[in-house]
Amino acid sequence: MSSTEGKVICCRAAVAWEAGKPLVIEEVEVAPPQANEVRVKILYTSLCHTDVYFWEAKGQNPLFPRIYGHEAGGIVESVGEGVTDLKAGDHVLPVFTGECKECDHCKSEESNMCDLLRINTDRGVMLSDGESRFSIKGKPIYHFVGTSTFSEYTVTHVGCLAKINPKAPLDKVCVLSCGISTGLGATLNVAKPKKGSTVAVFGLGAVGLAAAEGARMAGASRIIGVDLTSNRFEEAKKFGITEFVNPKDHKKPVQEVIAELTNGGVDRSIECTGNIQSIISAFESVHDGWGVAVLVGLPPKDAVFTTHPMNFLNERTLKGTFFGNYKPRTDIPSVVEKYMNKELELDKFITHQLPFSQINKAFDYMLKGEGIRCIITMEE
Ligand code: NAD
Ligand code: ZN
Repeated sequence: MSSTEGKVICCRAAVAWEAGKPLVIEEVEVAPPQANEVRVKILYTSLCHTDVYFWEAKGQNPLFPRIYGHEAGGIVESVGEGVTDLKAGDHVLPVFTGECKECDHCKSEESNMCDLLRINTDRGVMLSDGESRFSIKGKPIYHFVGTSTFSEYTVTHVGCLAKINPKAPLDKVCVLSCGISTGLGATLNVAKPKKGSTVAVFGLGAVGLAAAEGARMAGASRIIGVDLTSNRFEEAKKFGITEFVNPKDHKKPVQEVIAELTNGGVDRSIECTGNIQSIISAFESVHDGWGVAVLVGLPPKDAVFTTHPMNFLNERTLKGTFFGNYKPRTDIPSVVEKYMNKELELDKFITHQLPFSQINKAFDYMLKGEGIRCIITMEE
């Protein structure tokens, strides 16, 4: 039994008091985990676009004060009643979308969209009692997507934690909590390119580069990167991208450029921008007869997808994916193993590192589009 089990822990957390204002490192109280909950000591966290998007709170219901953060690695400090498959000392990755293992989705081999623990960006409290486990002098501070990893300790539902190999370096594998697994799974689990095939990746941010990494791992012979920012291209070569297309360099639609480059279209395309024009292009870039396009990027609220129905009759397939179709508890441990056996390369995604005290700098990097992932060390 740890010395803190069952007690309130006081620790540092980066609190967002207002939309778009720098986070403030505060002393917070973290309550013990209740039934089916786990308290985790976070060692490393990274920053993803979703944190920045909700912190800016331009398009959604603002919920403040709040502790953001959802890509992280940590160690279980204590568990609440009814938690049997985790114990103090286990190494875990928190995941923003959970796996209860009991609902129809969790029981289906085909879905990872758990009914109970599917991402909910509006909820800032725990499921069991509708309360927050974080407070400052008794005033509650809201949770974010069930993870709130910008805190030295956090409390999550047991279904939102993947138990991983304790030998895996948490400062590297923490990036598998969200974006990298999303892109990787979109390719490996959904697009499933065959060895020697041609793949196009639309959007070369963290998610798109992870999709390219998946294509490299699957043995694709050509991986065409499509992005509006040409300075992404050099970096993207490390991720297996063999050719680049910038739609701005061409008068005709990018799908026509790709058809010419590939004798009719790519075998697979993975859309990682969310731009509706790019979504249409990604679909229309796949070869008739067998081509499959997979949508990952999040489109704007009122976006409408249009294409001629003949594109489907000509045997092109369109699919979409959420978190790369990975079930967090069942599948993420084996993704960590792919890194451990050197099949999956993660170090190249990590372009910056900062101590927790400088977390706001990580927001600056992301807002400027600098680098891919910034690892924040909690103990510094
Ligand atoms: P990012 O902003 O880092 O990268 C997007 C890239 O797309 C940029 O390099 C940008 O230059 C490029 N781009 C934008 N519009 C383009 C266009 N019209 N044509 C070509 N390139 C274009 O974003 P990210 O973090 O890599 O995330 C990518 C997308 O994936 C986002 O929409 C995000 O919301 C979404 N996402 C989806 C899931 C899911 O489960 N489906 C999970 C995480 C993220
Ligand atoms: Zn479920």
